[in-house]
Amino acid sequence: MTTLHRGLAARILAPTALAATLAAFAAFGAAPARADDAQLRALTERELPSLLTLYKELHAAPELSRFEEKTAARLAAELRPLGYEVTTNIGRYFVPSWQGHGVAAVLRNGPGPTLLIRGDMDALPVEERTGLPYASKARMKNEAGIEMPVMHACGHDVHVTALVGVARNMVRMKDRWSGTLVLIGQPAEETIDGAIAMLRDGLYQRVPKPDAALALHVFGDLPAGRVGVTPGYAMAQSTQMDVIVRGVGGHGSRPEEAKDPVVLAANIVVQLQTIVSREVSPFDQAVVTVGTIQGGTKRNIIPEEVKLELNIRTYRESVRQHVIQSVARISRAAALGAGMPEDRLPIVTVIDTEYAPAVNNDAELTNRVATTFRRALGPDAVVELPPVMGSEDFGQLGLDGEIPVKMFRVGATNPERYARAKAAGEIPPSAHSPLFAPDPEPTIRTGVVAMTAAALDFLARR
Ligand SMILES: [Zn+2]
Ligand SMILES: [Zn+2]
Repeated sequence: MTTLHRGLAARILAPTALAATLAAFAAFGAAPARADDAQLRALTERELPSLLTLYKELHAAPELSRFEEKTAARLAAELRPLGYEVTTNIGRYFVPSWQGHGVAAVLRNGPGPTLLIRGDMDALPVEERTGLPYASKARMKNEAGIEMPVMHACGHDVHVTALVGVARNMVRMKDRWSGTLVLIGQPAEETIDGAIAMLRDGLYQRVPKPDAALALHVFGDLPAGRVGVTPGYAMAQSTQMDVIVRGVGGHGSRPEEAKDPVVLAANIVVQLQTIVSREVSPFDQAVVTVGTIQGGTKRNIIPEEVKLELNIRTYRESVRQHVIQSVARISRAAALGAGMPEDRLPIVTVIDTEYAPAVNNDAELTNRVATTFRRALGPDAVVELPPVMGSEDFGQLGLDGEIPVKMFRVGATNPERYARAKAAGEIPPSAHSPLFAPDPEPTIRTGVVAMTAAALDFLARR
């Protein structure tokens, strides 16, 4: 993780390093178009109408994380007739009742490397407000049994559709490559435990362990038709913590007989904000967000406890460990300061199963796919994007650096809409917004062409 620090610092402090990377991309971009690119575009164009139908079907029927049963079945039903060996229900690891809706499809096509391509399948508890004819009206119960509106607000329906498009193209272009292709339909990305669940359920014993892994993600802040690449660290570590602030309950009119966990929790929330501002180096990246605060049942009762749910984003493991320790220290110290007895101090937990490592895009693989994208989509279609503090569990599939991984972004906003938003100084609706509306045709076309081109390059006959 030290290299990460140096890598990011270099990007910030030494613009020449970034310029050199861009120059390297430009140099690679000179590669001439090939006959397979024309064939690939023609094949993709032929599949586009049925892919659009599939996309709209998936968009109208989203499923929450860990409940991707129908989406997984739909994906498996698309891949089996194409000749892929399909395994379903991978990832039964965490919840006994959870069927683990992971899908793995293998296409063996002679000697050569193994490439994994991952598409995530889950949707979000968001009420869609796009007004599109195929907008979701779906509702389903979450794990707590509470009914929620559901929307593909992160565009994972595009990812599943693109995976099917790539699957078809790779079968039709079988004479162009040699090796093994592994396609993964991953559940539970939004809860960042789907990839680890599949791994712990023996993913790499059930399918050949890949030599590289690729994934794409749609991106609202990029016009459809373009792709974005980020070499090196691109997405942050995500850590979830709970702080149960305990008090001594009592009557709201008699605070002297109680220890108020509401006031204590408020104090802790404010103090937690000093971790990033006063304890973490300005050259490191960290975010501490208290996303929920819940406690109490009635206005004149001092409750027994208040629960805080935290989300922490970092890039460097030592910074992550520091923030975790600081949350525990501040919570404990604030409680002691409030006179809380030892047996009523806050309970601080890190939720291990909901951790996402940083996505570290392998530099060589990034250069390689960027070169391929420039050739297949045109040099202007490829842009370099800076790292973000958002997270993804795709990095898990790289087994902590053992397998090179690359995630790239696919522009999703209608180009005219994008230009209008930019002219008005606005950002088009982004992922997780109830208004997020990828322009399906150019987005799916670009995603399928880019991913197939990258796969053909990686598995090219030597
Ligand atoms: Zn998301
Ligand atoms: Zn997503």
